[in-house]
Amino acid sequence: MSVTHEEASETGDLILNSVVAQCLGLLGDRWTLLAIRDLFLGRHRFEELLQHTGAVRSTLANRLKVLVEQGIVYRNPYQTSPLRHEYRLTPKGLGLYNFSLAIWCWEHLWSNKEVFVLPPKLFHSRCGAYFTPVCSCTRCAKPVTSSTISNRSNPAYAGSKVATTVPKRRSKVNPAQYKAKDGSMFHAIDVLGDRWNHLILGGALYGLKRYDDFQRGLGISTNILADRLKLLVNADLMIRVAYQNAPKRYQYDLTQKGKDYLPIALSLHNWSEKWLTKGQVSNVILSHTCSPDPVQLDFSCSHCGEVLAPHDVSIV
Ligand SMILES: [Zn+2]
Ligand SMILES: [Zn+2]
Repeated sequence: MSVTHEEASETGDLILNSVVAQCLGLLGDRWTLLAIRDLFLGRHRFEELLQHTGAVRSTLANRLKVLVEQGIVYRNPYQTSPLRHEYRLTPKGLGLYNFSLAIWCWEHLWSNKEVFVLPPKLFHSRCGAYFTPVCSCTRCAKPVTSSTISNRSNPAYAGSKVATTVPKRRSKVNPAQYKAKDGSMFHAIDVLGDRWNHLILGGALYGLKRYDDFQRGLGISTNILADRLKLLVNADLMIRVAYQNAPKRYQYDLTQKGKDYLPIALSLHNWSEKWLTKGQVSNVILSHTCSPDPVQLDFSCSHCGEVLAPHDVSIV
């Protein structure tokens, strides 16, 4: 089943005008994501962040400045003479916790363990056990998968785009990623660190399949689209399947690895709606099979079942 041209354009509009597209201007950057990872891992001082992110000094300083301006991080004095500051997550920053857990789950499932960029084990202090986060729907407590989520445009949406003060960065793709035919070098951060990768996957999760659908829907230039589809196929997030023989035509289906990206996309969507819309309603409603209302995700402990909170989880 393929979508019509009109449906492709509509889906593309939903994605391009979504809060997540705006959010990617803010968070869709490798160094920003690594800094947020480290803040959740308890690294707060500039030198620690410098060491663990591997960013150069000026880049890290710049990303932290933007995070402070956007109210995601605040500077906290930890010493008075001389005055020294550390970086802490604000409530808005702590709101990215589900998103961080979603990334952890995806990496845990799909990345090559030798180059795993996140802590290998999580410990839940409330029950005293190692655990894996379990993603479910807040309303019905059932698992949230790509086949149980639907999207539709929001009739209450007024059409104005979400205000963002963050400039879009030029997407740069590391050519080394293309060599990773088995996808072993490819991480969630490589999807999120490139705005188009994330939006194309979003399109696929919304039902786009064919080259023309992505092109028409997302208004993406053909060379960038071809480039990113190739990358996503090489990284095993998508598979290229012939749907017609003469002339040969292909569509791009999500693999299980691609489908499993959904909780990352959804938790980012939830966060963006809560923190970036400034009281406006979102243009798209994503709902679970249990209700037409917007879906919210919970991440709970696989051992005791309790919903996870940032301060109850430690790392190994
Ligand atoms: Zn549900
Ligand atoms: Zn537990």
